[in-house]
Amino acid sequence: MKNKIGIVGLGLIGASMLKDLSEFDIELFAVSKSQETLDKAKQYTQNVSLALETLQDCDIVFVCTPMNKVQEILDDLEYVLPEESIVCDVCSLKRFLLHKKRNYKFISTHPMAGTENNGFDNAVSGLFECAKWVMTPGEDTSTEDIAFVTKVIKTLGAKPVLTTPEEHDRAVALISHMPMVVAQALFKTAQSNDLALELASSGFRDMTRLALSNEEMASDMVELNADYIQEAVLGLYASIGELLKENYKQQISDIKYYRQDMYLDGKNIL
Ligand code: NAP
Repeated sequence: MKNKIGIVGLGLIGASMLKDLSEFDIELFAVSKSQETLDKAKQYTQNVSLALETLQDCDIVFVCTPMNKVQEILDDLEYVLPEESIVCDVCSLKRFLLHKKRNYKFISTHPMAGTENNGFDNAVSGLFECAKWVMTPGEDTSTEDIAFVTKVIKTLGAKPVLTTPEEHDRAVALISHMPMVVAQALFKTAQSNDLALELASSGFRDMTRLALSNEEMASDMVELNADYIQEAVLGLYASIGELLKENYKQQISDIKYYRQDMYLDGKNIL
C-alpha cells in the first residue's frame, strides 16, 4: 500500500483513525487546530502540525473536522497537494459538499461509527471494526483510486459500501438524524412532567441516548439534511398510525423477528 496518510482534525473520528492506523507500517501526518491536541497526538506520530503544508507528500488525506469547516479545508488543500493525491472527507452528510473540480482526486466518504462524545480524548481504538464505511465516488473516479480508499478502510476493519450522495443522505436521515431528533423531542416532552423524569429508568435512558449528541454536529445535520429528515418524520407518523390502527400484535411480532437478527455482538450483520 502507498504509505503516507494525512489526517486533518484530531477529534473523535480523526484521532480514532490515527490510533488504529499507527498500529501499521504507515507514515502518518496529522493536522489539527490546537497545539494541545497535537502534543497529545505525538504519541502516535511525530509528524504533527497546525499547518496543512505538512501534508504535501501524502498519498491520501482524510479531512475529519466538523462539517462546517470541511469545504474551506478542501479549498485550502488545493494549494498544498499534488494532483495524484487523494482527499476524502468523513462527513455525516454528502449532498452539501460542492463537487467542484479539484487539483487533487476527491472521494467523499462516511464511516458509520461514532459515539456522542467528541474531541481527541474521546477517541476509541477499534471504533471502525466491522462498521460500514460509505463511499460516494464521482463519475470520473478511477477504480484504482476506489481500490486504494477501500484498502485504507479495510485496514481500519470497516466494510466499504458504495452509493450516491442522495441515497446516502436519505438513508442516514432514517437511521440517524430522524432518530436523534425524536430522542431530543422525547426528552423535551417528558420534561413537562417531573414525576415522569423521576421514575424514568433504562428504557427511557436507551431511547434518549441520541439526545446526548454533539451539538455542533447535530445542528449541521438538521440544517443540511432538513428535507430528508422531514420526509423521515412523516414516514414515522405514518408508521405509528399503521401500527396502532389494527393487527398491532402481529405487526410488532414481525418487527421483532427482523430486528433480533440484525445485530450480533452489537454489530450490524446485514
Ligand atoms: P470532533 O470530535 O469535534 O473533532 C473535530 C476536530 O477537528 C476538533 O477536535 C478540532 O481539534 C479539529 N478542528 C476543528 N477545526 C479545525 C480546523 N479548522 N483545522 C484543523 N482541525 C480542526 O468531531 P467528530 O465527531 O470527530 O466529527 C468529525 C467529522 O466526522 C464530521 O464531519 C462528522 O460529520 C463526521 N462523523 C462524525 C461521527 C460521530 O459520531 N461523531 C460519525 C461519523 C462521521 P482541536 O482539538 O485541534 O481543536
